[in-house]
Amino acid sequence: MPIMAKEAKSKWNGFSLKKRKEMPDGLWTRCPACEQMLYKSAVEKNLNVCPECDYHFRIDSLTRISYLVDEGSFEETHEHLTSNDPLDFNFRGTTYRQRLKADEHKSGTKEAIRIGKAFIKGRGVVLAVMEPNFLMGSMGYVVGEKLCLAVEKAIEEKLPLVAICSSGGARMHEGVVSLGQMAKTSAAIAKLDREGGFFISVLTDPTTGGVTASFAMLGDCLIAEPKALIGFAGPRTIAETIKVELPEGFQTAEFMLEHGFVDMIVHRKDLRSEIARLIDYCQK
Ligand SMILES: [Zn+2]
Repeated sequence: MPIMAKEAKSKWNGFSLKKRKEMPDGLWTRCPACEQMLYKSAVEKNLNVCPECDYHFRIDSLTRISYLVDEGSFEETHEHLTSNDPLDFNFRGTTYRQRLKADEHKSGTKEAIRIGKAFIKGRGVVLAVMEPNFLMGSMGYVVGEKLCLAVEKAIEEKLPLVAICSSGGARMHEGVVSLGQMAKTSAAIAKLDREGGFFISVLTDPTTGGVTASFAMLGDCLIAEPKALIGFAGPRTIAETIKVELPEGFQTAEFMLEHGFVDMIVHRKDLRSEIARLIDYCQK
């Protein structure tokens, strides 16, 4: 069996398949980048970054917040807002309302973004953190509305806005209503700019579609996590549409930095310090 052969040849020296079978489920995880088998606890202790190759695992919003803010300082607001299913959407027998319920159960949150106030190394911020486990972090009416509410709070309290983006794009279940959020959030960020506000946007793996095409790329500072996928349409769609071979590393954070679309790539362990430094340097 090819998979077993690959495992046997991998670098976790002396660790036999027999032993692996004896391990309790959930103790190990495989790095999608270097394919090493890793202790889950070792990965978690390392901020969910692969100790072997620095691959940044995708993390949920609460884990992200715990890594980023001063302990216990996040005060979430508007957590009860939910979509009202404007199109009465049904896809192959599954209604949008059923998807919302299922993903609420899976992610522990009612929408694909959490907003609130927090402190990062003692600096007050308004924080918006997307939740990849809720309909792939897609932006519908509630995500757009909550992002705008975060902007209003940042203006009102003269605090920097920090957004952690992670999204599959606009939410198809809401059709044009979700596309409208691109204009709405972009207008809100423009208002923040006119008011002299400061917006740091952190692009994590993946930041795509309507979120990339709106507020995510409108930060005064654009930070990306290493190797994050950042783009509008996916590489396969582009390649098939325009019939060209795409360059190596296309749509990775490193490619975006090289082509001037992001300002810096910051390792997860340095994100807190870097955001604090940027706030000190740029906030009026
Ligand atoms: Zn790895």
